[in-house]
Amino acid sequence: MALAAAGLDNCRFEARLLLAHAAGLSIEQLIARGNEPASPAVAAALRELTARRIQREPMAYILGEREFWGLPFRVSPAVLVPRPDSETVIEAALALMPDRDRPWRILDLGLGSGCLLLTLLREFPAARGVGLEASEPALAVAQANAAALGVDGRAELVLGDWRQSGWHERLGGPFDLLVSNPPYVEAGAIPDLMPEVSRFEPWLALDGGSDGLVAYRAIAAQAPRLMSPGSRLLLEAGIGQVIEIHSIFQSAGFGVEVPWKDLGGIDRVVSLTY
Ligand code: GLN
Repeated sequence: MALAAAGLDNCRFEARLLLAHAAGLSIEQLIARGNEPASPAVAAALRELTARRIQREPMAYILGEREFWGLPFRVSPAVLVPRPDSETVIEAALALMPDRDRPWRILDLGLGSGCLLLTLLREFPAARGVGLEASEPALAVAQANAAALGVDGRAELVLGDWRQSGWHERLGGPFDLLVSNPPYVEAGAIPDLMPEVSRFEPWLALDGGSDGLVAYRAIAAQAPRLMSPGSRLLLEAGIGQVIEIHSIFQSAGFGVEVPWKDLGGIDRVVSLTY
């Protein structure tokens, strides 16, 4: 009721998830025990979790976990919540690189939770990956995910910031595949996003500068040094940004391929060669 009054969609589903979390049960266990009354401790914990959600804290932060490509990722407020839109990057990589068993070298710029790189390492069991992340607490989340998903032996996660020049130097390479979900929201538009995003998600992961395209320019300037003939760069894009991103990369000498659409039919992933 409180969730519905706060204007949240999906409130029945969310209420169940919060109750299961408060009780320390899985959804299946909760359903099996559906008729038992909650203990006072569980009721108190549930009130606390519900109060957080009413403040529009994302469910993923409250639960500490979000599924991406069918895999469980730990999340904290230091990282962007993994989104289904970003699964388009994985879909494109699998379609463009059908040989799953090759020892591909993969680079992820701006790891966040690690959902892109670590999912790719699961899908390509002989691949090795390097991930760059500017936030120390985010890097710790990605490291925990790499270990939990059993790919930490093939992942080198590096603290570093592409807003500073020369960031490519520490990354090695060349890489066969470079991926990124860079910050691409126009700085001035962040306060108008859903409260879950604008109030709780890290600005570092959202803020694409005054026109939303600053990170793409930084990548276009340095990525060639990390690529070799045949390598590919897959970048998530915001709605309506593809044409401008194409022109940034064409001016920098990249080849532009057909963009990949997300499930909503939106051009979501730019595919580039060098
Ligand atoms: N997809 C996010 C949003 O629209 C933005 C993520 C990003 O900037 N990379 O809220």
